[in-house]
Amino acid sequence: MTGQFDLAVLGGGPGGYVAALRAAQLGARPVLIERERVGGTCLNIGCIPTKALTTSTELLLKARRALEFGLAIPTAAPDLFALMEYKQGSVDALVGGVEHLLKRAGVTLLRGTGHLSAPDTIRVQPDTGDAISVSASRVILAPGSITARPPIPGLDLPGVITSTEALDIPDVPARLIVVGGGVIGLEFACIYEALGSQVTILEMMPTLLPGATDEVVAQRLAILLRRRGMSVVTGAHVEEIVSAGGSLAATYSDGKGVPSRVEGDRVLVATGRWPNTEGLGLAEVGVEMNGRAIDVDEHLATSLPNVWAVGDAVGGPMLAHKAMVDGRVAAENAGGGTRAVDYRSVPNVIFTRPEVASVGLTEAQARQQGADVKVAQFPFSANPRARILGETDGLAKLVCEAGTGVVLGVHLMGPHATDLIAEGALAVQLGATADDLAWTTHAHPTLPEAMLEAALGFRDATLHFSSR
Ligand code: FAD
Repeated sequence: MTGQFDLAVLGGGPGGYVAALRAAQLGARPVLIERERVGGTCLNIGCIPTKALTTSTELLLKARRALEFGLAIPTAAPDLFALMEYKQGSVDALVGGVEHLLKRAGVTLLRGTGHLSAPDTIRVQPDTGDAISVSASRVILAPGSITARPPIPGLDLPGVITSTEALDIPDVPARLIVVGGGVIGLEFACIYEALGSQVTILEMMPTLLPGATDEVVAQRLAILLRRRGMSVVTGAHVEEIVSAGGSLAATYSDGKGVPSRVEGDRVLVATGRWPNTEGLGLAEVGVEMNGRAIDVDEHLATSLPNVWAVGDAVGGPMLAHKAMVDGRVAAENAGGGTRAVDYRSVPNVIFTRPEVASVGLTEAQARQQGADVKVAQFPFSANPRARILGETDGLAKLVCEAGTGVVLGVHLMGPHATDLIAEGALAVQLGATADDLAWTTHAHPTLPEAMLEAALGFRDATLHFSSR
């Protein structure tokens, strides 16, 4: 296929399909090569199915508290078959939506596994039939990521699963061991906990959510999870997973180096993701790598002049919204633009119970960078809307430059934190000050008032909370 397309995009996840849509808006004739379903990890086995499960399980727990809200709901129990249908229905609707958008935009969708056979050619092997070569003067690589496999013996045992298998819940394990207390591990821990599993989390680092949020927030989340009955072990080096009389056991050394062992019926290994770059022919055609990731500059240009790369495959924050921004940037640059990526306002969002969300610098990072820092915070227990919702755990924390009040970071734990972080992202992106937030009128009674009150705290002027 030569002369038909002027842009080839390899991989139809949030990075690739957004790049194709944006390129089409700019007048290109793109072809999008995808070996599975469009939407990639995010729509099919990541963001969307996990959030469907999170939504259902939260509703389940809320229904069990119905009397607190003056409602009589005699029984609230999961129906696993219906739950799987709801989850898959959510995925299918959104995948169908993206397919529709691509069609309407004039993007050609080519199904098959592609690899770069020359800087301007992708060889595509469809599921059936002969391979074809697609030529395009410009190429955007968006092959995403795969589940990381840590060197722990026993990963192949039946019952040891990754996040992809954890999405299918034919039955609820009585005891779930989660190896990895990062974003994916904790989201599944909360889902399975709500369905009735006794959950043990084994995290290698000293705190949960390493690198994803402020330490204070991570520590408070660990306290809340433990209070609910989860076993949370930090500083745990998992050494092996073994069969143990019909169930499984993980052996590990705890934070003090003491050997320990925990038994479970299923083990979820959630120790991160690796860029999916093997077998794509990248090194052979001269694309420079940075470890497993494709090496790119701030314009997302690779070492080849006509090739850009985006999303999880280039490393950095492995998040769908970051991949989508990358897709827009790469499409514009492939169309002759000179846009640089700006990751200052990429929020981390974690759909635990309660939710956690962060943007910008943590307090520790700001201090390490030499900033004179002033922290202001406000508890959700003093927010009227949170009280009405019956979700009062958590806080809003602003990390500000002491002299100017410029917001360097925002860290939230509490109801709808993943929505509320949008205000923090805007503040960080615009270089807003705590005063800017404090003089922005926030509607009452709403959750964003927690941000307003935290901002007032910068001038020690919080109104609706007194620590004295
Ligand atoms: P991908 O989405 O991985 O897409 C890459 C695509 O390329 C895939 O469709 C793949 O089939 C295709 N492909 C790969 N190689 C080839 C080839 N050789 N030929 C043809 N096609 C190929 N992020 C968030 O922001 N919020 C969340 O709530 C969230 N939850 C998550 C939950 C889980 C369980 C997981 C695993 C991830 C989650 N993520 C979340 C991360 C998010 O899914 C990824 O950051 C995002 O999908 C990356 O987009 P991408 O386009 O770079 O790659």
